[in-house]
Amino acid sequence: MMAQSLKGIGASAGIAIAKAYRLEEPELVVEKCVIDSIEAEVQRFDAALKQSSSELEQIKEHAFKELGEDKAAIFAAHLLVLSDPELINPIKYNIKSEQVNAEFALDEVANMFIGMFEAMDNEYMKERAADIRDVTKRVLAHLLGVTIPNPSMISEEVIIIAADLTPSDTAQLNRHYVKGFTTDIGGRTSHSAIMARSLEIPAVVGTKTVTAEIENGVLVILDGLTGTVIVDPSADMVKEYEAKKATYEAQKAEWAKLVNEPTVSKDGQHVELVANIGTPEDIKGVLENGGEGVGLYRTEFLYMGRTQLPTEEEQFDAYKTVLERMEGKPVVVRTLDIGGDKELPYLDLPKEMNPFLGFRAIRLCLEMQDMFRTQLRALLRASTFGNLKIMFPMIATLGEFRQAKAILLEEKAKLKAEGIAVSETIEIGIMVEIPSTAVMADIFAKEVDFFSIGTNDLIQYTMAADRMNERVSYLYQPYNPAILRLVKMVIDAAHKEGKWAGMCGEMAGDEVAIPILLGLGLDEFSMSASSILQARSQLLNLSKAEMSSIIEQVLNMTTAEEVERLIKEIEVKEVLV
Ligand code: PEP
Ligand code: MG
Repeated sequence: MMAQSLKGIGASAGIAIAKAYRLEEPELVVEKCVIDSIEAEVQRFDAALKQSSSELEQIKEHAFKELGEDKAAIFAAHLLVLSDPELINPIKYNIKSEQVNAEFALDEVANMFIGMFEAMDNEYMKERAADIRDVTKRVLAHLLGVTIPNPSMISEEVIIIAADLTPSDTAQLNRHYVKGFTTDIGGRTSHSAIMARSLEIPAVVGTKTVTAEIENGVLVILDGLTGTVIVDPSADMVKEYEAKKATYEAQKAEWAKLVNEPTVSKDGQHVELVANIGTPEDIKGVLENGGEGVGLYRTEFLYMGRTQLPTEEEQFDAYKTVLERMEGKPVVVRTLDIGGDKELPYLDLPKEMNPFLGFRAIRLCLEMQDMFRTQLRALLRASTFGNLKIMFPMIATLGEFRQAKAILLEEKAKLKAEGIAVSETIEIGIMVEIPSTAVMADIFAKEVDFFSIGTNDLIQYTMAADRMNERVSYLYQPYNPAILRLVKMVIDAAHKEGKWAGMCGEMAGDEVAIPILLGLGLDEFSMSASSILQARSQLLNLSKAEMSSIIEQVLNMTTAEEVERLIKEIEVKEVLV
């Protein structure tokens, strides 16, 4: 086969060269048949149970070692289901009494239990339904002789090939072995892409056809810098990319020299260069990359890749760890932002036609208040361990903000009445990611302590272009004057009220956007930790005054392309001066 090159969206920088590992869910088709020997069929079922259980034991141990106790607990719960006589005995009974094949009996009994548990108005029971579904899939695969992929068991260097990766799939990847991934769907701001950047794994998403083109085991080159995937490369190509990889690593080493430098423009303007994180483990990367704080802690990852809600204690531990490790530097924690491409199967929410426009984030929290209050209590209790700021996601109306803030203050008062210490200096802000809020920023600015502009969503809602859909990814236009004007409105509104404005969408780390944002007066730039040093090196060479002087011209340009051309020309001149 000749080497073949596929084009996608470079979602996480870096180059990887490794064998392909296809991560795909096989189709498990169950047919009903009458069996000859009941005894043989029961034995076949027992054998599948045994195989599944030894596989789960191995996965559990591996997950414990490589991914931590949390992830291992999922598999421990699955092992319990596998040995539960209430599930196993009726299956054997059906094999015997109906003389049917084990696959059919298993499917019938499992579906009965799943339906029963799902119908119960009890979170715990609903979670059991999800466990039964997972476990029966594994046993069924053994009975049918089909292999199901176990990404947490990967133990050699690979590049993952998948139609899509959910954030929880991504959370289970072991970065020791997973050198990169590439998907058919997705865009630069889909959450698997964002996770790839925080794990510092090169990724190319939105290739449309990668699963159709790449077989298991074939050598692949992944270039996350240009969004290229090369299948079955020649020896020369491998050499060429090894050299490219070395150049990129050398460039990174140059940037690394700036790790302890402050971020000050050529004309003396300090801006805060902070990081987006998903888990407390990400703090290591923030510190290694010289982050001056955390501008966005996406707490929903604490809720994902598990079978039930995290307790107040678990959350408290996570928030406290992050605050302590940041040693008094600002940490902006965003309350739960579930929905869109981030699902929590155990909440069992009905499927929606337009999940990005649906019952999500603050909308869901204001309705499921027990869950929201638990998170707020954990945050408030942790607040004395560092410099905490709390922000609410997806605020569309002032009413939502007031309600969320009132709940926060209620929980604070309750804690204080219980004699629990809570910081008195927590700033309370909002994400500006819905156009209505950007337009009303002057009104919001009177009541919030700060804004953090979430351009990933702000752009998708302003341009009406789904951030997950690679067919409309050309409409992800951070330099479109429409977006820049909204950003200006938000920054100006904040400053008029003496508040600060940050940005935590991917645009904050974008090379072309950075000079414009500096010119607009953005106070805080929050990005993947892996982008911080590159952004610092760029900001050190820019003049705030010069950039401010071109803002009017930029905002009156007609297209994103025109803006991009102008900024690139200016930067070339800067380098030559
Ligand atoms: C955003 O929308 O820009 C943002 C930072 O939030 P998320 O990407 O998690 O939706
Ligand atoms: Mg968002």
